Amino acid sequence: MERENAWKSYTDQDKTELTELCEGYKSFLSQCKTERLATKRAIELASAAGYVPLTEAIAEKRALKPGDKIWIDNYGKAIMLVQIGTNDIEAGVNILGAHIDSPRLDLKQNPLYEASDFVLLDTHYYGGIKNYQWVALPLALKGVVAKKDGTVVDISLGDDPADPVFCVTDLLPHLSAKQNVKKLAEGVPAEKLNILLGSMPMPEAESENVKNNILSILKEKYGMEEEDFRSAEIEAVPAMKARSLGMDRSMVAAYGQDDRVCAYPALTALFGLTQAPPKTAVCILTDKEEIGSVGNTGMESRNFELFLLDLLEKSGIVHPYALQRMLSASQALSADVTAAYDPTYPEVMEKHNAAFMGRGISIKKYTGARGKSGASDANAEFVAYVRNIFEKAGAAYQSSELGKVDEGGGGTIAYILANRGMDVLDCGVPVHSMHSPYESASKYDIYMADRAYGAFFRNK
Ligand code: MN
Ligand code: MN
Repeated sequence: MERENAWKSYTDQDKTELTELCEGYKSFLSQCKTERLATKRAIELASAAGYVPLTEAIAEKRALKPGDKIWIDNYGKAIMLVQIGTNDIEAGVNILGAHIDSPRLDLKQNPLYEASDFVLLDTHYYGGIKNYQWVALPLALKGVVAKKDGTVVDISLGDDPADPVFCVTDLLPHLSAKQNVKKLAEGVPAEKLNILLGSMPMPEAESENVKNNILSILKEKYGMEEEDFRSAEIEAVPAMKARSLGMDRSMVAAYGQDDRVCAYPALTALFGLTQAPPKTAVCILTDKEEIGSVGNTGMESRNFELFLLDLLEKSGIVHPYALQRMLSASQALSADVTAAYDPTYPEVMEKHNAAFMGRGISIKKYTGARGKSGASDANAEFVAYVRNIFEKAGAAYQSSELGKVDEGGGGTIAYILANRGMDVLDCGVPVHSMHSPYESASKYDIYMADRAYGAFFRNK
């Protein structure tokens, strides 16, 4: 059951639409390297598409009606966007869930120290990274510093060409004899992922001259003291823009495509609805997927259910089991990336069940590791239902697993939604170099994601 390379049936109209979509996607990636920035941008795009915050509808004591467009953000790090459908909301909604957090280096809460006339920042990596990939490349610092007086200062340094960049140093090959014979996972220990922040001493200070100089810059630029790092969330992310990849420009290379390569088409598909869909369309962009979907901004957070309760109430439905009934009758796509077959590393893939770039969006009946452990394993009937939707919409798709059995594995938010009783299928874009500072994906698959997700939202 080989799928054709989708580029072979590529029309001029496809080319125009695909280029427009992927240019928008590239600027989204370049601007939104953290969950906070992705949420902020999603709100801007939603506002331009006529979406209003749920708080506004509540303040105006306005009942929701078909066609209404609502967004609800969760601590500025996750967001739910909804277009109310014409059907009874309690009879189930269509949910598309993607995540907007990506693997990175987070600063520790007491990060700053001086050593041998350098100032460095201690980090604690977030999500599954291969440590050696994060040395000797330009990094930007993004995030917030929350101060005791309640003010929150945005930090964004490293992406503007006028900004300085930061980096983690690596050992030169000439002195790597011992490092070279270590296991790959041990070659660069996590505690050596220290970010270089400065080297210029402040002449008048008596000790920790370089650190004092950096502190005076931080004070001047952000009004912060060293102790404010305790209540800061600062992420070191690659300081590189998203680019077209290849002589034929057929791919996108960038940091953070897991899972913004699904989150962005989820947004464009939702905003592309030209009329109220039959079923209420719910797009969830969640945080913390890379560390287990935990916390009040992760998919496990009860806040999502509270938001859905608000929607039910504003739609005039208040009986006690309404939420459970609605969740159980809903259908969901867990929009998350999968591993694309890489001819340089064929040994980890089972070719008959691998996802290939350029062959469309990939559906995965199950994820998991060690005998499907951790997978929600979609019902065959629901997989057939989704296939039918995609085929009718002309959305190219393929079925895959993440690598050979017992080669490793991974999971998504699918099981969390499935636990609420609804049908869920994993469905996302295949990528190369997943979780690295420079992931790549096929523009055709991104285009197909937009088409597939749009068809799912429009389905009755
Ligand atoms: Mn993911
Ligand atoms: Mn991931």
